[in-house]
Amino acid sequence: MIDADLVVIGAGPVGAALAMLLARSGRRVTLLDRATFPRDKACGEGLLPSGVRVLRDLGLDLAQLGFPALRGVRYRSAGGRSAAAPFRNGCGRGVRRVTLDAVLAERAAATPGVHFHPGCPLVAIARDRRGIEVRTGLGSLWARALVGADGLRSTTARLLGRARPPRGPARYGVVGHLACDRMPPEVVVTLLGEVEVYTAPTGRDELLVALLGSRKALFPDGGVLDRFRAVVERAHPELAGAPLRSRLRGAGPFRVRARPVAGEGVFLAGDAAGFTDPLTGDGIAAGLAQAEVLAGLLAPERLDLADPRQLARAALRYRSWWGRQWRRRRLLAGLALRLGRSTALAHRALDGLARRPESLTALLEVDDGGRALTSLGPRDWAALVGL
Ligand SMILES: Cc1cc2nc3c(=O)[nH]c(=O)nc-3n(C[C@H](O)[C@H](O)[C@H](O)COP(=O)(O)OP(=O)(O)OC[C@H]3O[C@@H](n4cnc5c(N)ncnc54)[C@H](O)[C@@H]3O)c2cc1C
Repeated sequence: MIDADLVVIGAGPVGAALAMLLARSGRRVTLLDRATFPRDKACGEGLLPSGVRVLRDLGLDLAQLGFPALRGVRYRSAGGRSAAAPFRNGCGRGVRRVTLDAVLAERAAATPGVHFHPGCPLVAIARDRRGIEVRTGLGSLWARALVGADGLRSTTARLLGRARPPRGPARYGVVGHLACDRMPPEVVVTLLGEVEVYTAPTGRDELLVALLGSRKALFPDGGVLDRFRAVVERAHPELAGAPLRSRLRGAGPFRVRARPVAGEGVFLAGDAAGFTDPLTGDGIAAGLAQAEVLAGLLAPERLDLADPRQLARAALRYRSWWGRQWRRRRLLAGLALRLGRSTALAHRALDGLARRPESLTALLEVDDGGRALTSLGPRDWAALVGL
């Protein structure tokens, strides 16, 4: 017996948004998550403008929910150089994940057509001609198709043999929230060489601070908290001694991807499909864009889920769209990492972009999926190399 048209594994922002979009198109969706909400998640908590737009279309007014506006991004170096630019297409939002994810899971659960099961882990997947059997900690159910939106270490990808090990130098993150009453409405990224410090306001008097770097740089022999304090103080002397509002959370290693991201009735979205490096702060917005594309491909008027050939065609289209998005994200993350690692290159880029902030705005638009990397002109590239 088929219990649902589609099962979505993981009710993070990507899975919850996708379940709502699919149900609105007329699909019967079962959404499950191993966690119960509210649950927290290590994240830089800066949502780019395109992600704000997707959530607004789903009926979520992030301003009304109290998430502070982010007007743009400022990059700084330890040597005092700085370049800043506004977002051109609306503002982003500082989204405290413990709150945002709980609101989204609640909205998904209240959406007609969505059956939400929290505290319900995926443990196995089986398949036959009738469809896909999803075995969970609370029993089994059958569906025509499955979407794995179960995050960085996706069980779906692992169970199907699609998970690939991390590539490149292993990078990690440590995040915490500090009390702070003077916060500019922007994301601030400070390049310290071996560590990057990312801040974003996430409440009226609260600042998210994320440190990104190698294991050695973030988890030295001494305590993680002492290291966190020391690095934050180096990047932001004004935050020395600021009370810690949350426990520190770690994440990593980054840069994983699954292959293939779609096929045989199973689609991967969000971090489950691939995770570059959070330095560019585009993870949630990119995942929400994937949810929109998938919901379009899997809508009843586009596809008969009982027809394997139609499902295969939808998988092909998603793979090709996802591949283009991934290449753009990977290139931009690679560029940001290269600048972060070389003080000389970072200084040249900061000087060039400070002189030509419109090039930084253009780069932010590329990061947010609003334009292609190839649309950047010679003057933008010249600014990036400090000319
Ligand atoms: C240090 C750091 C900083 C970041 N900074 C930013 C930033 O500033 N801006 C930004 O946009 N992004 C940022 N990101 C990336 C962002 O956190 C992710 O891209 C985003 O959370 C992806 O959402 P998701 O829904 O795919 O996965 P998740 O939010 O991870 O949700 C996955 C869900 O799946 C559930 N799940 C897992 N396994 C199972 C299972 N077996 N069965 C059932 N459910 C399961 C989990 O409980 C979870 O609720 C950052 C990430 C890190 C680590």
